[in-house]
Amino acid sequence: MTATAPREEQLWSRCAGCASLLYRKRLRRNLDVCPECGEHARLGAPERLRQLVDSGSLRLLPDRLPEADPLDFVDVLPYPHRLSGARASTGLAEGVVCATATIGGHPVALAVMDFRFLGGSLGCAVGELITRAAERALDDRTPLVLVTASGGARMQEGALSLMQMATVSQAIAALREAGLLTVSVLTDPTYGGVAASFATNTDLVLAESGARMGFAGPRVIRQITGRALPEGFQTADFLLRHGQVDMVVQRRSLRARLVALLAVTRAGRPARPPVPRQEPAPHRERLADDGAALALPADPPATAGDTPAVRDAWDTVRMARHPGRPTTLDYLDSVFDGFVELHGDRLGADCPAIVGGVARLAGRHVMVIGHQKGHTTAELVARNFGMASPAGHRKALRLMRLAARLGLPVVTLVDTPGADPGVSAEEQGQAAAIAENILTLTVLPTPVLAVITGEGGSGGALALAVADRVLMLENAVYSVISPEGCAAILWPDRSAAPQAARALRLTAPDLCRLGVVDEVVPEPSSAAHDDPAETAHRLRAALLTNLLPLLDVPPAMLVRLRRQRFRRFGANRASARAGLR
Ligand SMILES: [Zn+2]
Repeated sequence: MTATAPREEQLWSRCAGCASLLYRKRLRRNLDVCPECGEHARLGAPERLRQLVDSGSLRLLPDRLPEADPLDFVDVLPYPHRLSGARASTGLAEGVVCATATIGGHPVALAVMDFRFLGGSLGCAVGELITRAAERALDDRTPLVLVTASGGARMQEGALSLMQMATVSQAIAALREAGLLTVSVLTDPTYGGVAASFATNTDLVLAESGARMGFAGPRVIRQITGRALPEGFQTADFLLRHGQVDMVVQRRSLRARLVALLAVTRAGRPARPPVPRQEPAPHRERLADDGAALALPADPPATAGDTPAVRDAWDTVRMARHPGRPTTLDYLDSVFDGFVELHGDRLGADCPAIVGGVARLAGRHVMVIGHQKGHTTAELVARNFGMASPAGHRKALRLMRLAARLGLPVVTLVDTPGADPGVSAEEQGQAAAIAENILTLTVLPTPVLAVITGEGGSGGALALAVADRVLMLENAVYSVISPEGCAAILWPDRSAAPQAARALRLTAPDLCRLGVVDEVVPEPSSAAHDDPAETAHRLRAALLTNLLPLLDVPPAMLVRLRRQRFRRFGANRASARAGLR
């Protein structure tokens, strides 16, 4: 590169759509939309805010959080190096900028993601900052506007980044309960964990022209299906056609459209004085203390210590995927009695990868919902390898709500490589289906007990695992991404999967230490598939120990404690752990 190149680049830029060379200032005046072809260039968060809010109204919310590297994650670079690189190149502290402002005179809280910062990935700090913006909206009784741009969860923070999907979703749920509008503006690109949570479980979903959104990325879908993708797949117009978004909006109309929507929410509603804001940190501490005092149930220290043989993470991955491992239907037979299967999402399909229905556990009625794999190739194919379609997630949602109405506790058995990443799954709104389950579980007024029995794969697993207590079989794994997928992205090649498995901290003892999992259910000395009867016996005992104390907790308290459980996965917690090292 010549010495003059950077300056040239500042003056001129080439359109990614039509390759026209455009005068930078003219492009900016046109909101970074190419005047020749209409291509919407990606915007950083500061520029996006400038375009959307009333001038002079912007008040940035604090963005500094203690440094966090909860896993000590190292791929070819240590994670802190990647973080400082992103800070240097963007001038931002993290991948989201949060603020209060007015838009057309309407006060709002905003969280605007910035794709330039590690692909806009959702880590603990990003989740914490967006959650605080949502809490600010709740305190101020204003709408919340989210502008999303993200490749998904941040792999370097492992399952803790996955938990952020639940943390932010429950903050959205609180706004829903309070009757406060939530709006997300999808910008290019919005994928993975962000798509499958707060990008799509808001009241209104707007897609900016040129935005692409989906649960699985096109590269992954092509790899898995081995087929070419339909024309315009996952584009804003595709999303509109398939009922996934309320509207597609050109950037030049976006602000006016938001003003019109925000005006509707205030119309006819008496202005309420803002509730005085409490200092957030001590408030949460107090709540946390309440939760601890309730000891839900008598919190035994992680039983990780009981298992002397420490297995390598990659061996555990292979164990978790063993075809002989008991499946949900096996457990329904061995752990529960009188299972009556309920089928269908009532919208046109019955997904075989999710089974659910009523059953008895030691004489008590419960709703059991789980992923179903199989032992033979034919069974696995028939069950789509335990990868649920949107219909599967909607069936699960229907059964969760039914359980709440009937006052039945919900027990979920999680065993999936991930949600179905196919073309039709995207057409039917996989991201939104997962997002709605996560949000609903954060408010479900009945006990929820989740068990990771085999593979806990990413958002598909979390869609059944936002629970009061999360148990995990000793040789199960729970991860934000498969080790193979992580290796393909962060290492030179997929053969680094064993290293990635170690770096991701996806085993039961690791997740217990991180607080993602409450209790490890020990397997027989060989493994679950060598002694399914003994495994079932141990699982049954663990279910009863954990479920019985939950039955006496009033529903409102249950929901409050569940939210506290997921509120604690923020950056503060991670950094507190880091500080202890
Ligand atoms: Zn152009």
